[in-house]
Amino acid sequence: MAMPEATVADTLGRRLRDLRISVTDRCQFRCTYCMPREVFGRDFAFLPRAQLLTFEELARVTRIFADLGVRKLRLTGGEPLLRRDMDKLIAMLACIGGIEDIAMTTNGALLAQKAEALAAAGLRRVTVSLDALDDEVFMAMNDAGFPVARVLEAIDAAAAAGLAPVKVNMVVRRGVNEESILPMAEHFRGTGHVLRFIEYMDVGTTNGWRLDDVVPAGEIIALVGGQWPLDPVDPAYSGEVASRYRYRDGAGEIGVIASVTQPFCRGCTRARLSADGKLYTCLFAAAGHDLRGPIRSGATDQQVRDQIAAIWTRRADRYSEQRTSQTRRTPQPKPKVEMSRIGG
Ligand code: SAM
Repeated sequence: MAMPEATVADTLGRRLRDLRISVTDRCQFRCTYCMPREVFGRDFAFLPRAQLLTFEELARVTRIFADLGVRKLRLTGGEPLLRRDMDKLIAMLACIGGIEDIAMTTNGALLAQKAEALAAAGLRRVTVSLDALDDEVFMAMNDAGFPVARVLEAIDAAAAAGLAPVKVNMVVRRGVNEESILPMAEHFRGTGHVLRFIEYMDVGTTNGWRLDDVVPAGEIIALVGGQWPLDPVDPAYSGEVASRYRYRDGAGEIGVIASVTQPFCRGCTRARLSADGKLYTCLFAAAGHDLRGPIRSGATDQQVRDQIAAIWTRRADRYSEQRTSQTRRTPQPKPKVEMSRIGG
């Protein structure tokens, strides 16, 4: 159904177009750059179930976001497939007027057995995270003993279920998995899957983040392009997060997400909803805005809509741009990002 154009724009003229929904704050991996075991150990207090938005609440909020202009959804976490019956949620979201695209970012651990049901429910695309092809390197990064082969099976299952082209996210850390850049490129060339290299970001939980740990996107492109020549490709849509490159020999394309060296705040049309119903207008926003409270205490759709519109209209975030321009001059206060709103 055609929806009227969005009317809500922030202080920099950025429209609200995308919503990343975290459905859980839990994950079975302990990726060292994301949910390191020292922080997310046995005693870590994850959200009790009653604090998560229910499927009905998620569908209601999404309907309101769609009314404000959101067209694309990405389901994430934590690990979204740890939440039971995700196909049922997807079916509920897929029939909301205005929603044109539903994607999911997953570590792939539970994807192979669920891909068909997810696709049948209305999931259109999937991004699978995989940081290396070498088990030793990958297991050291996921810190859960999870083998590469299972993620590769999940990617194949997703493609077979029609969730193609599958995007593959690889976070690159200097001295940890940079040796995996070329093997990963070689493996996914010619498969139709799109490998995306992500600059390692400071998400405030690893304590050890240093600019020196980041392999800049320019260096990655030079490395891959030195082996298999590349041409830049225009963005598929305005505000696209990854810069795209095509292999000159026709073996497909890759992307780089240069959040650190070339931040893309200017084109950011994304809102993030945490698993407990807080709205964040930036990955690095210091605080979220509680939507669950009003929803559970009887607010009408119009009241929730007005609240979201007011938050978006006031939005002025351009954290990554400011941080990049200041990093070399003055040490910056560390951001504190809850994993439950990362969602690549
Ligand atoms: N559990 C799911 C997964 O593994 O894809 C979804 C959540 S995960 C937080 C979403 C994406 O964020 C993954 O592709 C992950 O690699 C990426 N990510 C997490 N921490 C990051 C960091 N410090 N820098 C860059 N990307 C990061």
